[in-house]
Amino acid sequence: MSVETQKETLGFQTEVKQLLHLMIHSLYSNKEIFLRELISNASDAADKLRFEALAKPELLEGGDPLKIRLTFDKDAKTVTLEDNGIGLSREEAIAHLGTIAKSGTADFMKNLTGDQKKDSHLIGQFGVGFYSAFIVADKVDVFSRRAGLAASEGVHWSSKGEGDFEVATIDKAERGTRIVLHLKAGEEEFADGWRLRNIVKKYSDHIALPIELPKEFHGEEKDKPAEAEWETVNRASALWTRGRTEVKDEEYQEFYKHVAHDFENPLSWSHNKVEGKLEYTSLLYVPGRAPFDLYQREAPRGLKLYVQRVFIMDQADEFLPLYLRFIKGVVDSNDLSLNVSREILQKDPVIESMKSALTKRVLDMLEKLAKNEPEQYKTFWKNFGQVLKEGPAEDFANKEKIASLLRFASTGDDSGEQSVALADYLARAKEGQDKIYFLTGETYAQVKNSPHLEVFRKKGIEVLLLTDRIDEWLMSYLSEFDGKSFVDVARGDLDLGKLDSEEDKKAQEEIAKTKEGLVERLKGALGEQVAQVRVSHRLTDSPAILAIGEQDLGLQMRQILEASGQKVPESKPIFEINPAHPLIEKLDGEPDEERFADLSHILFDQAALAAGDSLKDPAAYVQRLNKLLVELSA
Ligand code: ADP
Ligand code: MG
Repeated sequence: MSVETQKETLGFQTEVKQLLHLMIHSLYSNKEIFLRELISNASDAADKLRFEALAKPELLEGGDPLKIRLTFDKDAKTVTLEDNGIGLSREEAIAHLGTIAKSGTADFMKNLTGDQKKDSHLIGQFGVGFYSAFIVADKVDVFSRRAGLAASEGVHWSSKGEGDFEVATIDKAERGTRIVLHLKAGEEEFADGWRLRNIVKKYSDHIALPIELPKEFHGEEKDKPAEAEWETVNRASALWTRGRTEVKDEEYQEFYKHVAHDFENPLSWSHNKVEGKLEYTSLLYVPGRAPFDLYQREAPRGLKLYVQRVFIMDQADEFLPLYLRFIKGVVDSNDLSLNVSREILQKDPVIESMKSALTKRVLDMLEKLAKNEPEQYKTFWKNFGQVLKEGPAEDFANKEKIASLLRFASTGDDSGEQSVALADYLARAKEGQDKIYFLTGETYAQVKNSPHLEVFRKKGIEVLLLTDRIDEWLMSYLSEFDGKSFVDVARGDLDLGKLDSEEDKKAQEEIAKTKEGLVERLKGALGEQVAQVRVSHRLTDSPAILAIGEQDLGLQMRQILEASGQKVPESKPIFEINPAHPLIEKLDGEPDEERFADLSHILFDQAALAAGDSLKDPAAYVQRLNKLLVELSA
C-alpha cells in the first residue's frame, strides 16, 4: 500500500448521519441495491469524463476504453468496484462523500420522526446513492484520482459509516475510482461471482459501459491464467438507442432509477425516435412520487442531455416547461453540436421546437395514462396535480389539452377527492347547460356546504369545488373548455341561462319588485360595507349571501396577496337576500330602525362567515347577537 500523507478525520454533515442511519435500518430487505447505486455513480463518472474530454482530450490519458470492473475476495470478505471515469480530487471526496449538497435537505430531514417505519418511505423521495454501500459494508474505502491531476494527487477516503470519515493523500497511477466494501458479518454472500453477476444483470443491464467480472475458471488450478481474464456481464449499450420492442419493462424501470436517482419505479414512460428535419431520441418518465423539493425554486429539474450519445449535461431544463418539471429522462440529439452550452441552449431555435414536441409527448403520455390506467393516474394527480395546474398560465398553446388532464372535486362526486375530469362533468351536464360551474374556497367542507350551491342543488346542476391555493389563479386563465365557458357561482349576477325557464325569470323579477323597499332600507343600514344589495335567486335555505363583483379579486387571491405582503385593492361584496326566507320577511316587517340595523349587520356578518371570510369587527357581531338573544329570552 502506498504512503498516505495529510491524513485527517472529518465529521459527516448532520444530514448525512441521519440518512446513513435511516438507510441502514430501512433497506435491510433490499440490500443488493447498493451495487446498482455504485454502478450508477461509476457510469455517471464515465459520462462526465467523456464530456470533459471533448474540450480536453488529454484527460483520457491514452484512451483505455471506459469500463467498470467488479472483483471480490471471499477470504478477505470484500467486494471491489473500479471505474476509469472522472475520479475525485481530495476536495471533491470531502464534499461529495461527506455532505449532501441538495438544496432543502436540512428542511427535509427535519421531517424525520425517528419512527423507523414512518421514516423509511421518505428515503424514496430522497434517493439512496453512495451511502447505500453501508447497508452491506461496515467499512468502505474509496481510492480515487481525478482525471488531469498528477498521480501523487490521489485520495483515500475511508469510513465505518458512523460519525466520521478519514481522508488522506495517496499516489494513484490510474485515473478513476476504486471502491472497496468490507462486508459486514452476515453479508458474505455478496463476495461471490454468481451473485454479483445476477445483481448486475438484474439492475444494471442498461448501463452503457461494459461491466466486467473475472471470467469463471473451470480448468485445473495449475492452468489458471496469472492475469484475470474478463467478461462483460451487461448488455453495455445505451438503452434509449435500442428499439422500443427490444426493451423490457424492467429495463425501462431500472434505467429510470439510474437517470432519476430514484428508488422506486416510474408510473409511466414514453420512448421515441424522431427522424426528419430534426433528429433526436427521447425517453421521458413520469415518476411514481414527488421529490421532496418539487416546490423549491432552485431544485434541480430537467432532462439529461446527450449529443450523439455523448453525455453533455444533467438538468437541461430548456426542453420542458416549468409545469412539467417533474418529468425525468433523457434526450439525445443528432443536431446539436457537441460543445453546446446552457447559453446556447437558451437561444437555439432548434431547442424551442424540440421543447414544444416534447411537451406534446408528455401531455399525450399523461392522457394515455389517464385513459388506460385510471388508478395510476390518481397517484399521478395526487403527486403532481398541483404542478400541472400551473400549466394553463404558462402554456397557452396547450391550454385545452392541459385542462382535459385536470381533476376536480365536485358536487357530482361524494368522495371529496379530486377525481372529476371536465369531460366527465360535461357528460353529466343538464339539458341546455352551456356553462361549467365552479366554486372556490378554503376547504372542501366549507365549499361543500356553501349557500352558493343551494340553487344548484335544487336544480340538480353539478358544481366543481376548488380548494387548492392555486385554484382561483388557475381559473383566471381557464376561460373555457370544449366551447363551454367557466362560471364562478359566487361571482357577479348569476345567470343560469336556459336552465331557468321564462316563468322562473318572470317570477324572480316580480319578487324583486316587491322587495325594492327592503333593498333600499338595507343599503341605508349597511352603507359603506357593501357594493350593492339585491334580491338573490341563488338561495333556497339561507337568508342571505355575499357575491363577489364580476371584476373583483376572490377571497383566495386576496389572502395570497396579503400573505405575500402586497397591497390588495379594496373591494366590496354584493349582499344578496333570499326573499322567501322567514328571517328576511321578518326583517321587511321590522318597524324599529335600530333593530333593523342590528339584524341587517348580523345577516351580513353571517354571510361573510359562511363564505369563509373573517369578520372586520367580530366583537360588534357578538354584541349584536347577544343583544338579540337577551331580547328573545326576555
Ligand atoms: P448522486 O449520484 O445522486 O449525485 P450519490 O450519493 O450516489 O449521489 O453520489 C454522490 C456524489 O459522489 C456524486 O454526485 C459524485 O460527485 C461522487 N461520486 C460517487 N461515486 C463516484 C465515482 N465512482 N466517481 C466519481 N465521483 C463519484
Ligand atoms: Mg448516485
